[in-house]
Amino acid sequence: MTTLGILGGGQLGRMLAMAAARLGIDCHIYCPDAGSPAARVSAAATVAGYHDEGALSLFAEAVDAVTTEFENVPAATARFLAARVPVHPSAEALEIAQDRVAEKSFLNGIGIETAPWRSVDTLDDLNAALDEIGPRGILKTRRLGYDGKGQVRLEGPEDATEAFAAMAGAPAVLEGFAAFEREISVIAARGTDGAVRCYEPGENRHSEGILRTTTVPAQIDAATRNAALAMAERIVSALDYVGVIGVEMFVMEGGALLVNEIAPRVHNTGHWTLEGCAVSQFEQHVRAVCGLPLGDPARHSDAVMENLIGNDIDTVPALLAEPGAALHLYGKGDARPGRKMGHVTRLRARVG
Ligand code: AMP
Repeated sequence: MTTLGILGGGQLGRMLAMAAARLGIDCHIYCPDAGSPAARVSAAATVAGYHDEGALSLFAEAVDAVTTEFENVPAATARFLAARVPVHPSAEALEIAQDRVAEKSFLNGIGIETAPWRSVDTLDDLNAALDEIGPRGILKTRRLGYDGKGQVRLEGPEDATEAFAAMAGAPAVLEGFAAFEREISVIAARGTDGAVRCYEPGENRHSEGILRTTTVPAQIDAATRNAALAMAERIVSALDYVGVIGVEMFVMEGGALLVNEIAPRVHNTGHWTLEGCAVSQFEQHVRAVCGLPLGDPARHSDAVMENLIGNDIDTVPALLAEPGAALHLYGKGDARPGRKMGHVTRLRARVG
């Protein structure tokens, strides 16, 4: 019997634990909050902080492998555990994805384009960066941003002072504004044997920085699709990565691809794989981090995944009555604005 330890207790951990259960694998959730969505469907749970070495040691003894369900797990925690038990993704991969400057430097260093960017620690840095890559841009905190949080849009140099103040002293990065045609993502998996499997790229719509829908397949031509898959493969191989990763990309006019960010975990834009493929991203991740062979990522159907955010939860009675709607609820109590409460996937006959 294998027990997989998961750092983090959110909906991604919950769906990982349910996929693991199908393979006869028990999960042990480690997170600071009691009664987390993931713990409530798992065999065991530890409620402790990510720097609690005593609790981490006991956790390492209780599991056969460890993974993470969110990218802001301290790299030091992954490193502490890795001295005791296999941990995937590695502390190094987490460190790169946690810092936008490290992430963009890594991507550019392996020949992958991003929006132009400059590191910003002072207002002078910001003004100089706007001069070079502006006038429009997005100022983002280097660390701990998600779902559009920690980001400010600038229309020109007149917005610099206010945008800089919004960073509240946190190190930041200015990105040139990418006038993209569409946003896509590739969910890629790499096994301990180095095998790489990618799912069909999905096309993503956001509002207020939060993912609303993913539609598969993305409306891109074959050359762009193949370039996107090749990019994802290059990233996971260069990171010597094990597990599932989400690679978010902007498709520019003419088909050029810029990578926006990489998420070293299962990804919201891959939820459609639960119904659209024989082996979902969650099962694929469990297979990878437990050292099992990867499964077939081919889709048998096209799909549209829609997030249920905040008050969208009020549509659940209608969704329960809708033929063909595959509903997932995360068991979160309080439907705060912007909070991901669940999602629904609708399959369509596969075209192409
Ligand atoms: P992020 O948190 O970096 O994934 O950004 C959230 C969303 O903001 C992205 O999915 C895009 O829709 C938008 N966005 C982020 N960076 C840029 C950029 N450099 N240019 C244009 N839009 C962006």
